[in-house]
Amino acid sequence: MKVTSIFEQKRVFSFEVFPPKPTTPIAQIYETLNALQDLQPDFISVTYGAGGSTPGASTAEICETLQKKHGINSIAHLPCINETKESVLAKLQDFRARGVENILALRGDRNPDLEPKTDFKYAADLVEFIRENGDFDICGACYPEGHPEAKSLAEDVRHLKEKVDAGVSHLISQLFFNNQDFYRFLEMTDAAGIKIPIEAGIMPITNKKSIERMVSLCGASIPPRLAKLMARYSDDAQSLKAAGLEYAIEQIIDLLEHGVSGVHIYTMNNADVARYITESVRECVKI
Ligand code: FAD
Repeated sequence: MKVTSIFEQKRVFSFEVFPPKPTTPIAQIYETLNALQDLQPDFISVTYGAGGSTPGASTAEICETLQKKHGINSIAHLPCINETKESVLAKLQDFRARGVENILALRGDRNPDLEPKTDFKYAADLVEFIRENGDFDICGACYPEGHPEAKSLAEDVRHLKEKVDAGVSHLISQLFFNNQDFYRFLEMTDAAGIKIPIEAGIMPITNKKSIERMVSLCGASIPPRLAKLMARYSDDAQSLKAAGLEYAIEQIIDLLEHGVSGVHIYTMNNADVARYITESVRECVKI
């Protein structure tokens, strides 16, 4: 099913997972999918080479399993920075053969050890290419605080409009910790003429190391209240996790009460965390 049609019916609640590294037993991701199934997300997106990782199972393979075995819609992430037109065509053919209908078209993170290929400079180039070469539902990434390489948030939103015009039908945001940043971003995108659904990306804080790594990778800012929580529980991993989960739940409830189109949880393949958050949010808000 094309996931964009779900936004016409309801507020969307979705998850992100990543393919395990070759050193992790492949069965682990399938256990995670089993555990996520009864939470009935509207879709699960599957990353591709995020943070320069080499996966042990392919994104397309996991998407196919999600759909055929678990009956869950999937979105395959597809970064283009290290691809040629020929290699993207082969991937589109693989998606088609496996019944994958939804693609998150990305430029991808720069890998210092790899010279980027030249066929696709920006995600918008990939969006146009996919549009010309198949009947896929295409999503894009967006950045409530601006993409780290953009000169300003305003400039980033201008480029985002070009990407949407190239054929994107829904957007998923980078993680953020201050909902006010997201609401300001929604006002800016609306004023720029971007009228497609924008899902809010939320990453629950479960440990200090992982959040420091994510924040340094994506440049999300830490609001004072969260910084205080992190400082208070810096030597108490269990309390930090509990406080981090409560923070994420509050963030999500506030977003849903403000009428956002959807919420996308970066699960980090932790089904217990996804379950705790989903069940807690559902006690308060219908999703
Ligand atoms: P683009 O939309 O191309 O934007 C990149 C930069 O170029 C921005 O600064 C933009 O303002 C600028 N720009 C765009 N068009 C122009 C133009 N015409 N002229 C000048 N500047 C321009 N990475 C992975 O490798 N694998 C993944 O699975 C993955 N999943 C992700 C999922 C989400 C929801 C998000 C938010 C990010 C994900 N990423 C992933 C990271 C992403 O690849 C990086 O953030 C990357 O640096 C930018 O990708 P993009 O598709 O947003 O790029």
